[in-house]
Amino acid sequence: MPGDVHLVCRDCQKPFTFSQVERDYYVRRGFTNQPLRCPSCRANRRRKQLGLAPVEMHEVTCASCGAATVVPFVPRGSRPVYCSLCYESLRQSQGGGPSVPAQATL
Ligand SMILES: [Zn+2]
Ligand SMILES: [Zn+2]
Repeated sequence: MPGDVHLVCRDCQKPFTFSQVERDYYVRRGFTNQPLRCPSCRANRRRKQLGLAPVEMHEVTCASCGAATVVPFVPRGSRPVYCSLCYESLRQSQGGGPSVPAQATL
């Protein structure tokens, strides 16, 4: 995708993509910095802040926008998985939400 930025995680040194979609979201939220960590490390840092043990993250593709994201479970393939951005907007527009949110167990 044009506008995608390729970064390296400061925690695990793994390369990851900071997509145009995510950047737009960051800008809307008023963030000016690029993320320092890959989605897996970011998710596990959030878990740590909540007092949860880190888990293995699985990379998936968002069923809505096609962006790469991570989920703390093995995706089954039978149900759509959304990135946190799409999950949030779906939840806002539907009032209910999809059954498999990317951040459900965080
Ligand atoms: Zn990482
Ligand atoms: Zn998405």
